[in-house]
Amino acid sequence: MNILVLNVGSSSIKYTLFKNTKILFSNLIERIGEKKGKFKTHSLALKEIKTQLTLKNANIDVIGHRVVHGGKIKKPSKITNNIIKKLKKVAELAPLHEIPEIKVIELSHKLFPKQKQYAVFDTAFYHTLPNKAKIYGIPYKFFRAGIQKFGFHGLSHKYVSQKLKGKTITCHLGSGCSITAIKNKKAIDTSMGFTPLEGLVMGTRSGSLDPAIIPYLIKHQKLSLKQIDQLLNRKSGLLGISGISNDLRDLLKNKNPRAKLAVEIFIYKITQYIGSYTATLNGLDNLVFTAGIGENSHMVREKILNNLSYLGIKIDKNKNKTNAKIISTKNSKVKVMVTKTNETLMIAKEILKITK
Ligand code: ADP
Repeated sequence: MNILVLNVGSSSIKYTLFKNTKILFSNLIERIGEKKGKFKTHSLALKEIKTQLTLKNANIDVIGHRVVHGGKIKKPSKITNNIIKKLKKVAELAPLHEIPEIKVIELSHKLFPKQKQYAVFDTAFYHTLPNKAKIYGIPYKFFRAGIQKFGFHGLSHKYVSQKLKGKTITCHLGSGCSITAIKNKKAIDTSMGFTPLEGLVMGTRSGSLDPAIIPYLIKHQKLSLKQIDQLLNRKSGLLGISGISNDLRDLLKNKNPRAKLAVEIFIYKITQYIGSYTATLNGLDNLVFTAGIGENSHMVREKILNNLSYLGIKIDKNKNKTNAKIISTKNSKVKVMVTKTNETLMIAKEILKITK
């Protein structure tokens, strides 16, 4: 079966055509809506993708759309008007991705009317979260009204943990960062929450903070809700602390003490989450690092792992330096892995499973 996977970002569309799980071809259209970009809108970009596919004589059986926020939808779903309605309801919780994703889904049905189309959600992996992990410590009526932990990056956490039995912690450390606790292949807690803002310090996102800071800023700094949103999502994290860059590579090269401080805080929070989730799991068998930072920065991994020696983790320094698949020693109590994530392939696999 030929599956076209569309991965829509705030200013990009990546598409991959699979024959089952084998890639036939793949391309990326970037800078959508930007001055230097070739395409003003996601709709124009999708029309271009159709042209490129036609020129290649591509045969497409089904289309899979990656959707960041699926709300309470538990599994990959055939797209219907009802599904689109549900997605529109949660779109404001991850607006940068979800609004263009919905646009692309709607147009894709017009451009590819013969193909069945499915949505695969980053949130679906978390439908197994127990209530004690999912519900916030605010009046229960807000849970009834839909405020709960949803979790994100689910396709990545699932991909890198799919073969691991027992107690696993997966660390997706990219420009967005999240950590997930998994027991026998089921997610039981995760660091991102109602939106992708909760949890770790990220490239430009603050992660968790004392909620009382928000009314304080509104009152004393006279910030509007929009400014607060910008502050926490776009101007915080590594960028906000360092005042230099949101890119870890820039900070690792920079001798400025604030660059060092930003990296130190970033690592501190990751270490804390791993400790916390080891308690949640009552032990740990596997620890996985993935995404841009997790896959490439041996320095970050080493600093995190040095503080986890109490778990009986032993690292082979040379293997860590070369980003080997397994970086722990044979006598380490926890198997520590570096695994390249592949969300696109995960989407193709999910679609194959439900169309069988
Ligand atoms: P995205 O969420 O945009 O897909 P990535 O998973 O590509 O993000 O991760 C981007 C982050 O990975 C950036 O902070 C970048 O600095 C970091 N990164 C990539 N390669 C390296 C490396 N060799 N060493 C340290 N950090 C790296």
